[in-house]
Amino acid sequence: MRTKLGLLTGLSSMLAATGMVGVAAFVLVAPAHSQSFGDVLGSAKKVAQAATVSDAQIVSYFSQMSVEMDRQNTIPPAKNPYAVRLAKLTTGLASYDGLNLNIKAYLANDVNAFAMGDGTVRVYSGLMDKMTDDEVRCVIGHEIGHVKLEHGKKRMKMALQKDAALSVAGTASGGVRKLASSELGGLIGNVLTAQHSQAAETAADDYALTFMAAKSYPQPACATAMDKLAALGGGGGIGLLKTHPDPAQRAKRMRAKIK
Ligand SMILES: [Zn+2]
Repeated sequence: MRTKLGLLTGLSSMLAATGMVGVAAFVLVAPAHSQSFGDVLGSAKKVAQAATVSDAQIVSYFSQMSVEMDRQNTIPPAKNPYAVRLAKLTTGLASYDGLNLNIKAYLANDVNAFAMGDGTVRVYSGLMDKMTDDEVRCVIGHEIGHVKLEHGKKRMKMALQKDAALSVAGTASGGVRKLASSELGGLIGNVLTAQHSQAAETAADDYALTFMAAKSYPQPACATAMDKLAALGGGGGIGLLKTHPDPAQRAKRMRAKIK
């Protein structure tokens, strides 16, 4: 039975990777009492909802975006003070809450940080200059929240569904392909530097507060981090302000939640 289920799961993944629909009908022959059946049905449901966008495409395109962003920016060597500080702040976070995370600094003056659906998190040195260790931890907690709650994946799925050239080209070849840098630039613009919904940001802030509590870090650092962003003002050039809602409102809401 185990082998048979393994085969079914394998076939399902293969079909999912090609973005083929109709997988739901196939897996219905699996025994209903099995744990694997639920998993298989769950992924089949996701595939059906995603139309022509496969999970394999999403994973591959995120990793290509990560490579492109890293290529466009400067990652400090391990002995650089920013790398040393961030490594200290993220000890034990390579694996957290069921996620595989890859957290690194960028040497750039922008006050910014971002996460991608593949677990890539980048924190700009300009943000590290402005914030205390605990404030940086809260920003990282917020970014992990976006990964855990799959905000980036949802946005990526939407972007691929809208862009027929990306989704169709991927599935026609039976899987994924290497994107041209112009295509990657478009995805980065649509997925990475576009605003999440207010609801998504609120959920990521709540995740950050939970993260701080779970790690025994002071939650008020989340509010003071927002105070600092608010003080920087909306004069432009601040990455986090371009992609996130009003920090004063976020500070107020988080203060009300902190006991
Ligand atoms: Zn956010």
